[in-house]
Amino acid sequence: MPAKRTITVVGGGVIGLTTAYALIQAGHGVTLVERDDHVGEQASFGNGGQLSYRYVRPLADAGVPLEALSWMLRADSPISLKLRLDWHQWRWLTDFLRACNARTNRNNTARLLKLALRGQQALHQWRQEGLDDFLWRRPGKLVVYRNAHKFSKSAKAVSNPQQEQVLTPAECARVEPAFAGLAPALAGGIFSPDDEVADCYLFCQALLKSLQKSENFHLVKGAATLEDDGAGQCRVRINGTPQQTDVIVLAAGLASRAMAQPLGLNLPLYGLKGYSLTVEADPAVLPDVSVTDYDNRVVYARLGQRLRIAAMVDIGALDASLDPRRITSLKRLAEETLPAAGPYSSAATWAGMRPATPTGVPLVGRTQWRNLLLNVGHGALGFTLSGGSALTIQDLVEGMQS
Ligand SMILES: Cc1cc2nc3c(=O)[nH]c(=O)nc-3n(C[C@H](O)[C@H](O)[C@H](O)COP(=O)(O)OP(=O)(O)OC[C@H]3O[C@@H](n4cnc5c(N)ncnc54)[C@H](O)[C@@H]3O)c2cc1C
Repeated sequence: MPAKRTITVVGGGVIGLTTAYALIQAGHGVTLVERDDHVGEQASFGNGGQLSYRYVRPLADAGVPLEALSWMLRADSPISLKLRLDWHQWRWLTDFLRACNARTNRNNTARLLKLALRGQQALHQWRQEGLDDFLWRRPGKLVVYRNAHKFSKSAKAVSNPQQEQVLTPAECARVEPAFAGLAPALAGGIFSPDDEVADCYLFCQALLKSLQKSENFHLVKGAATLEDDGAGQCRVRINGTPQQTDVIVLAAGLASRAMAQPLGLNLPLYGLKGYSLTVEADPAVLPDVSVTDYDNRVVYARLGQRLRIAAMVDIGALDASLDPRRITSLKRLAEETLPAAGPYSSAATWAGMRPATPTGVPLVGRTQWRNLLLNVGHGALGFTLSGGSALTIQDLVEGMQS
């Protein structure tokens, strides 16, 4: 069957691949451009693996600036800030501080929740269609709180007690016995039974494998650039060669900001560096439920026979290189919190840059160029929001005038 429209998707991370998948399923023709040799090897590679559909509160919230100041004094601080002589960093931080209030956080949480739940439905559908082999499970997610004030604030924000169950420390230990040793230090927890986990990199590979079965799909290795064609449209070039395409979807993660600059489009994206550890351990000691240690902002997810631990937000990092001090801190935190799954000394280590907007809400939508759509800025929740964002792009493509 001939494709309905031809679409060039720029970027082969989880966002570009899910976008391509949704468009192919809808009968469009897709060229996916990826500059690396393989897809899924940037921010989507070693992430926390949480499909955190219910728990989507953005980092920007009331009290976070003060809390962050107290963290700065800790060597194992969940957030580190390196100020630079860089107006983009200052502007991003100013917009972030502006979003740190309860009302903005509530509104943005509601927007993210809608996108996340749509993504959950999408993934359910795609799995029924045969998408597989990415270590998907639905064990639920438990967020544990050490600080009583933060726990009571989060418990009060629960809007659906079936989907977010407020638990005592003893109940937390029953839900996930691997963390029982932590119970005396806890104020309580919130359990979302429908939350899921999966390996984001394997998900990217599964998407690509499925896409390659379609004659309407083409993967092109190359560096894409964007320019204004002078007639209200955007033109994409791959390795310098202009492409014929009906629609362009920019989904190049953090690199999208530099790509949009020749158009005069100033995307508010900033790279927030994070780290992960992956350990092989005896399955009997691995947690089944995925757990977030809220006060330390560390997430634990079992992916098959391995445990993935992800954490930390470094603001002002220039690239995704591993910082040995942060890795040492993360190993120590994991050792203190879940000693049975260690030793962590031989853990595989990884760092990635979350492509973040100041508000935590991604930019998924139209631009002033009739043929250019954005699917960028998914920050700490790109895996979770990927399906919902892909379907939003599909809706926009289908709503475009031919
Ligand atoms: C430590 C850490 C833990 C995380 N944990 C979670 C989690 O538990 N759950 C969750 O939902 N999210 C999590 N995230 C967030 C999630 O990983 C990201 O939001 C997501 O991977 C972003 O995907 P992306 O496709 O936008 O970017 P990327 O994966 O970076 O993909 C962008 C792609 O575009 C390509 N590209 C760039 N420029 C060009 C060009 N000019 N031409 C062609 N191709 C180009 C790049 O090579 C890359 O492959 C975590 C992130 C980190 C760092």
